[in-house]
Amino acid sequence: MPICPDCNYEYIEGMTICPDCGSVLVNEDLFVKPEEWTEKNWEVVFTSTYEYEADMMKNNLEGAGIPAAVLSQADRNFPALGDLSVVKLMVHKSDVRAALNFIQQIKNNINEQDQDQ
Ligand SMILES: [Zn+2]
Repeated sequence: MPICPDCNYEYIEGMTICPDCGSVLVNEDLFVKPEEWTEKNWEVVFTSTYEYEADMMKNNLEGAGIPAAVLSQADRNFPALGDLSVVKLMVHKSDVRAALNFIQQIKNNINEQDQDQ
């Protein structure tokens, strides 16, 4: 069953996008709850102070076929504390090398764009 990594909702077979939040659905066997990530061999490949940066990186990785999940410690009920917390982007251990290479490429691209301006 496909499942939304952001909403934790299960959807019927064949769906690929969460109708609630627009996230790419992942297979149930790939999906693990945040507290299980370390036990299931997920590793942090990117951290940011800003959730949108981690989300952007997650979308890029998923676009490249690498399942990724954002682990945010931000408590949405207290937005003022959100800036202080670290947002982590995690991928499965078998995807770590590919993910790190991909993230490096994205960073290089960003740097090149900066130099052009
Ligand atoms: Zn969703």
